[in-house]
Amino acid sequence: MPEIPTRPRPWLGTSWKMTKGRQEAEAYAKALTASAPGFVDALNAFVLPAYPLIEPVATLLVPAGVRVGAQNVHWAESGAFTGEVAASMVAEIGATMAAIGHAERRAMFGETDETVNARVKGALKGGLTPLICVGESSDERNAGLQDTFVTRQLEIAIAGLTPEEVTHILVAYEPVWAIGAGGTPASPNQANDIHAVLRRVLIERYGEVGEKVPLLYGGSVNVQDAPELISSPHIDGLFVGRAAWTVEGFTELAHIVAQR
Ligand code: PEP
Repeated sequence: MPEIPTRPRPWLGTSWKMTKGRQEAEAYAKALTASAPGFVDALNAFVLPAYPLIEPVATLLVPAGVRVGAQNVHWAESGAFTGEVAASMVAEIGATMAAIGHAERRAMFGETDETVNARVKGALKGGLTPLICVGESSDERNAGLQDTFVTRQLEIAIAGLTPEEVTHILVAYEPVWAIGAGGTPASPNQANDIHAVLRRVLIERYGEVGEKVPLLYGGSVNVQDAPELISSPHIDGLFVGRAAWTVEGFTELAHIVAQR
């Protein structure tokens, strides 16, 4: 009998953005350690708190099998960069990954494709898995330019990476029009189509290595659309904001993702 290929473990993660202080963060993390045994073997789960909460949250979640990461890191290893944080600094307090190039950083903090590339390299050098965020605006989509736009974002974000480094990256497709309050979730077809574009870029550049890079979808994910999104052929995981800011929300999504 020919073997039926099994898909790799899916991903589910949340960024808390700037929403939780220490008390709330620890309460969430403690409650998640209680529900984690119900899903951690079936998926790769992660939580991205604000910098000061990485250590206390990692102390609770890492032993429970949930990864913890930063929401950004600087490209340099050290130096006169007031207000910035190096990858090695968050790695030594328990982070193993970092989101890079989130739409809010691009829109509000001057992040460009070039600084995203530099930060991706900085994250890798510091021992972190970068979660590279890309996604077009509604203007680009209305003009039919979404494929071209995300291709360019991804190509620049990964420029100069070695194949070995590419085995340590994750990519999140997060259309700007879909994320945050007021966002409209992408349909599973819209998300899946862009994931296919991103996959093509990765395969063109990195062959088999590119084929294995996990591609996550993010943007107003909720428990209603999560089952169809996660069973789409090119979607390897979900990157969630608001719907996973309660432990109940994260746990419910985790059970959906685990059943894929
Ligand atoms: C995000 O901002 O990256 C995000 C996915 O948020 P939400 O799920 O709240 O749209």
